[in-house]
Amino acid sequence: MSLQNKDYESVLVVEDDATILSMIGTYLSREGFLPLLCDNGRKAKDIFLHNPPDIIILDIGLPEVDGMTLTKLFRSKSQAPIIIISARPTEDDKVYALEIGADDYLVKPFSLRELVARIRTIMKRRTLIISESETINHRKNITYQGIVLNPNLYTIVSKNQETQRLTKSEFDILYFLCLHPDQVVERDTLMREIMWYGNYLYDRTIDTHIKNLRKKIPSSIVIQTIRWVGYIISKHA
Ligand code: CA
Repeated sequence: MSLQNKDYESVLVVEDDATILSMIGTYLSREGFLPLLCDNGRKAKDIFLHNPPDIIILDIGLPEVDGMTLTKLFRSKSQAPIIIISARPTEDDKVYALEIGADDYLVKPFSLRELVARIRTIMKRRTLIISESETINHRKNITYQGIVLNPNLYTIVSKNQETQRLTKSEFDILYFLCLHPDQVVERDTLMREIMWYGNYLYDRTIDTHIKNLRKKIPSSIVIQTIRWVGYIISKHA
């Protein structure tokens, strides 16, 4: 069964702590969402396949199939926003989750109000993207220092024809920086342009994306951090 033409958003919540799961479920219902609650990774796969959700909230440590594996699977089949919830994540966990396609990361304990605020922000952004998709689809390939950026495939092709695929967020960051080469792009400008929320003062998501990007781009270009200000892209000196 597919849930289309409906006036509520379905949210798949996968969490093996029964108390947290039911709290999230109750809160989401009250806020007008349709929660699909699940306490097990394997069952989550079944729900996902039979009843594709609009939004996905995943714990990492889960029975049978863990949250990271689920993230990869869901992202390969769906564009639904994925928010990871986890207690005591390492920096590597966060980097990895975003790398494999999660949209956001909340550290437990978090407030339910904040969870819903994040969901709404992501959904609003998605709607904007859909309504602006004409413009977005017409973004053109650009070349920076011999590297071709393809906004339809989210790929970069280096001078020696090596293709590297980026995540959407990584690509959008790089694209924006390459449109403004050798200029400092302020962090909040980049957040506003690229990311889904403006809480840049304490949100580390963009730094994580930049860190991942640096590993993927050719060494001929460099993304420098200008402390307290933002980022600048330039050719390698
Ligand atoms: Ca758990």
